[in-house]
Formats: sequence, C-alpha cells, structure tokens
Amino acid sequence: MTLTPGITAHPFWQNANVPTLAERPLPAQVDALIVGGGYTGLSAARETAAAGLGTLVLEAGRIGAGCSGRNGGQVAYSLKPSLASLSAAHGPERAFAICREAFEAIAHLRALATAAGADCDWQERGCFYGAHTRRQFERMAQEAESQPRGLEQRISVVPRAEQRREIASDYYHGGCVYHDDASVDPMKLLLALLRRATEQGAMVSDRCRAESIRAVGGGFEVLTSRGVVRARKVLIATNGYSGALSPWHRRRVIPIGSYQICTEPLDVDRVRSLIPNGRNVVDSRRVVVYYRPSADGRRLVFGGRAALSEQDPLACVARLQSMMTRIFPQLSAARIDHAWVGWVAYTFDTMPHLGEREGIHYCMGYCGQGVPLAPYFGMRIGQQMAGLPRGRTALDGLAFPTRPYYGGTPWFLAPSVWAYRTLDELGW
Ligand SMILES: Cc1cc2nc3c(=O)[nH]c(=O)nc-3n(C[C@H](O)[C@H](O)[C@H](O)COP(=O)(O)OP(=O)(O)OC[C@H]3O[C@@H](n4cnc5c(N)ncnc54)[C@H](O)[C@@H]3O)c2cc1C
Repeated sequence: MTLTPGITAHPFWQNANVPTLAERPLPAQVDALIVGGGYTGLSAARETAAAGLGTLVLEAGRIGAGCSGRNGGQVAYSLKPSLASLSAAHGPERAFAICREAFEAIAHLRALATAAGADCDWQERGCFYGAHTRRQFERMAQEAESQPRGLEQRISVVPRAEQRREIASDYYHGGCVYHDDASVDPMKLLLALLRRATEQGAMVSDRCRAESIRAVGGGFEVLTSRGVVRARKVLIATNGYSGALSPWHRRRVIPIGSYQICTEPLDVDRVRSLIPNGRNVVDSRRVVVYYRPSADGRRLVFGGRAALSEQDPLACVARLQSMMTRIFPQLSAARIDHAWVGWVAYTFDTMPHLGEREGIHYCMGYCGQGVPLAPYFGMRIGQQMAGLPRGRTALDGLAFPTRPYYGGTPWFLAPSVWAYRTLDELGW
C-alpha cells in the first residue's frame, strides 16, 4: 500500500473551501427551524425564507460535516425501486409520477449547478455502468433496450470487446453508458445552496446541535447547544446523521458508512488513459464501487463499502486501494493522500421519504443517491412548510416503514455486507 506521508482523513473536496460561519446569537423565535445544514436543509431554508418565513438552520458540525460535503458528486437517475415494483405497490399512474420526480430532480440540479455564479464544476460526461458478470451484462443490455415509455434515458450498450473505449480495464464483462449522467463538486454545490439560502434571508448557524424538540402551544421549543429557540415549524433534515433528537426518524433510516479515497495529483494524460471519456463509473455488484476523475482530471476519486463494520477511514485505505487496483493495476504505485467516510441513509423500502408527523416536517432517506434527490426534495419540503401547492410531490403520504427490533443501530449490516460480498465474488 502506498500512502502519501501526511495522508489526511479529510474529504478531498474540502481542501480549500470550507467557510467559517460567524457565531451569531440565536434568535429567540423563528417561523421555521431546520435541523441539518446539508443539501436538504439548505434547500428547504431557501424556500421558507423566500416565502417570507423567518428561517434558522442549525448544523451540528461545520458546514460540510454531513454527506453533502463528502460524497462522490455523481449525478444519476436515482430511485432504486423499478417502475414495475412501484406499480405493484402504488398502481401504474402513481408509480410513473414517482419515477418522473427523479427526472425533475436532475433537471433541478442541472439548473442550480449551471446558474450564473454557481461554480460547482458541473460536467455532463455520462457514466459507465460496468457489469461484473456476463449475466449482469445481459440483464443491463436487456433493460437498456426495453425502457419504460416516458422514462427513457440515453443509454448505449458497450460489449466487452469494445469496453476499452470506456475504461482501461478488463475487469468488467461489458456495460452500458448512461449519457445523461453528470458530476459536480459536492462541496461547491453545498456552498452554492448555502449562498442561495442566506441570500433569501435564512440564518445558518453551524457548530450548534439541536438537542430536543418539545411541542408547546401550537409550535415547538427547540433546545440547542446554544440555548432555546421557539419555532412555529420544524424540519428534520438529518438523513444518515439522525440521532437521539427524533427516535421515530432514527428507527426509519439505516446509516451506512461509505468510504472514499483519492489519489495524489497524477498526470492528466495518465488519468485520461484510465477513463478516456472522463465519465463516472459504477458497477453492478451488490457492494457497489463508484469512481470518477476529479474535475481537473488529475486524480481518481474512488469509493465504496470498505469494511464489514464501521471503521476509521484510514483503516480502510488498504482495502479500498486493493479494490481500486483490481480494476486498475496501473495505479498500484499511485499514492493516496485523502481518505474519508460519511453516513448515507438507507430506508427499508429503498425510497426517500418526506412529510409531516405530529406537526414536525421531515425529508430524508436517499439511499446513497442524494446529490440530485436532496436538493430537489429539500426544495419541495420547504415549499410544503410555506404552504405552497407546488411543494406537493408524488411521494407525499407514502408510509415510512421501520422493522421490529430496529432502534437505529444496524446490527444486521456486517452479516449483510459479508453475504452480499460473497455473492458478488461468486458472480451470482
Ligand atoms: C462517501 C459518500 C459518497 C456519496 N456519493 C454520492 C454520489 O456520488 N451521488 C449521490 O447521489 N449521492 C452520494 N452520496 C449521498 C449524498 O451525499 C447524500 O444523500 C446527501 O448529501 C444527503 O444530504 P442531506 O442534506 O439530506 O444530509 P447530510 O448532508 O448528511 O446533512 C445532514 C446534517 O444534519 C446534521 N445533524 C444531524 N443531527 C443534528 C442535530 N441534532 N442538530 C443539528 N444538526 C444535525 C449533520 O451534522 C449533517 O451535516 C454519498 C454519500 C457519501 C457519504
């Protein structure tokens, strides 16, 4: 293993651009209090503030502490359940409307990221989806050729014999190119959303944790690490970091660590030789890996599920590096200079959920696909809080399931990852 001396357990995206927010006294009373300063919370705050509600966002860490400042920046159609399974559960019309929301989410993100001054390193170069078995390749090719009408994506099937056009590796059995996929610098996107929220008048306080929420006289009293704030409306936007603040939500999201490493700066031609079209790459394994060149084309950012149980990101470097060099032996001498982890939020039905319970709004559960979904559904829940009809979505009112004996600690994760990894290795 080749670690760069001084390797940092810190997201590569946060090298230069993490702002220090001024610590201002909290207001005693606001209209809308939003817990969580990631894509969801800041997008919601922009809407409530724009609708004239006095808005306060509380972020326990520094801006970027959650997933939104440390993800892979890959943008893809992002609802996990198929149209067929959604149709079986909700009927064909609603299922179609649910799937369309995911297209709306990408269009919304594209508009945000390409707006004047947004400066998010948005690149529309597509994604190569590698098949880890021949059977997976056949399934992918078949799905690409029979896309549901109205939900089509631009997809090209790439047989194994032509794969080197896409990736300098024989690891895969062919794959598909999703031409509409894109990439973004996740931290720059977060800062753009922060600017949009504050420009509308929202106040954002970081290093301030919401400790408890109590219903009082038609509103709420929120105890924070810096005093009490009364709020007419509250949004929980804590996603994979949902904790003791709201046990009901905590029982409904499964926090799963996703780990990333980043190579030291390499020669641009060397990175281009690995992924000639500069695309994102993901693969069909159950324990998926995802990677892409950095926006300047000089590094490879590589991520996946490195450990059975949660670990220090530096302890996972060797495993991730060996996963990377199985695909690209050419990188066996490349040094790694950043490694980090973040907690994505899975749900028991693999759907995001937004709504209101006992007067408290919530929006979470993007199952590792929140780059497009969180800014979009965050916007919608903010509009719902402001009472705007355009905030309605096809997901409203979906039951948010939990399981017996689940309190928020996924005790089943290590055996599940082990089983999935074994199935992947066996090519099933
Ligand atoms: C390593 C990694 C790679 C990923 N790659 C991709 C990708 O390529 N594409 C993609 O679509 N998605 C990806 N994701 C997922 C995506 O980043 C998330 O779905 C998205 O950022 C969720 O945004 P959010 O605002 O809901 O949550 P977060 O950004 O996690 O924000 C929640 C915030 O709530 C705060 N909080 C929690 N409790 C409290 C409290 N009591 N008081 C105050 N604040 C609190 C936390 O500190 C946290 O900052 C990845 C995630 C990780 C970790």
